[in-house]
Amino acid sequence: MAWYCGTYSCGHEGRVNVIGPSKEREWKIDRAFSKMCPDCYKAQLEEENQKAIELAKEMELPDLQGSEKQVAWANTLRLKLIEKFDKFTEKDFDEVKGLFPEFDNLIYDDVLKIKDYIILNKTKASFYIDNRNESIRYFVETYKKQALEVNNETEKAMLDDIKTESTVFPEERITDVPVEITVLEDKITVSTEKNDDFKTIVKNLGYSWSGKSWDRKITKTNGPVSERSAELGNKLLNAGFPIVIFDEEIRQKAINGDFEPECKRWIFRRKNTDCFAINWTERDNDDLYKKARSLPGSKWSNGSVLVRVNHYQEVEEFAELYGFRFTEAAKELIDTYKKSLEKATVVKPAKVEETELKDGLQEILESGDDILDDLKD
Ligand SMILES: [Zn+2]
Repeated sequence: MAWYCGTYSCGHEGRVNVIGPSKEREWKIDRAFSKMCPDCYKAQLEEENQKAIELAKEMELPDLQGSEKQVAWANTLRLKLIEKFDKFTEKDFDEVKGLFPEFDNLIYDDVLKIKDYIILNKTKASFYIDNRNESIRYFVETYKKQALEVNNETEKAMLDDIKTESTVFPEERITDVPVEITVLEDKITVSTEKNDDFKTIVKNLGYSWSGKSWDRKITKTNGPVSERSAELGNKLLNAGFPIVIFDEEIRQKAINGDFEPECKRWIFRRKNTDCFAINWTERDNDDLYKKARSLPGSKWSNGSVLVRVNHYQEVEEFAELYGFRFTEAAKELIDTYKKSLEKATVVKPAKVEETELKDGLQEILESGDDILDDLKD
């Protein structure tokens, strides 16, 4: 054990106690005197703490609880933690994502939410002292569940409020649990508690179970979604189910039964052919089948009756009679066909009188002896 005298970086004289092999001592002494003297260091920390308290007030951070000394230091540590999060940019996030499982399924915004969660909820000074050496990775891993859940709960409460104002109850209801109808661009999804009457209604309207909800894909021939969701809502209300539809206009249509019924009879164009594909979704309609098959040149193929575009006039008459609609593609098929008829060259063929067949040899025989002589040796 040996004491060495020297001058600290702050200019104050002092002595330090250095142990260990002599070759290391020089370095240890230099390092000790490169710092501030203990008094100046303490004063600097106190100043830092005082600044942190002022900054915390300015940033409107929650007050910390603990002993006076704890609070003084924790304020500084909390600011350092905030700084640590602030230095962790979106670019840093993109770099570590995929490298560390802590960041799986997170977006950068979640990291900011975790920071806010800690700052708002951790108000014990001891928290910042205990966790002073932990990394961003540690904080993300430890607090992501709580931090992001809080957010979901807030969203859930908000959604519940909106649902309440978008729910309508039929006068005679068979349950208090509403059916939720979600209207998407090209899909309607519907869900509620398990109920057999509900299941029958949605199945009959062409919905199928996705494992999570009953869904129906809306296409050009069964839409639009507004009409179909109004129809579904109306059927459910009439069966005694309360319904939730966020779209006010659609909800009113469901209440008033004001929607265009679904057209179930369509004339498509069979892809890559010049045929119409006549199609209907009412099951086992033999009568309709016979009528479609009486069209000229009709064939049965893949669940549709096919008729070539050449017979479009007959098909148009058939559509008029039985309430079929043409898809855009089928209409185009007709237009293109009509145009091709206009362009076709119309001719007046010349008539050719039929003449008797000649007998060549007889003609030669009758013409004279000249040639016959030539044939002789
Ligand atoms: Zn000093």
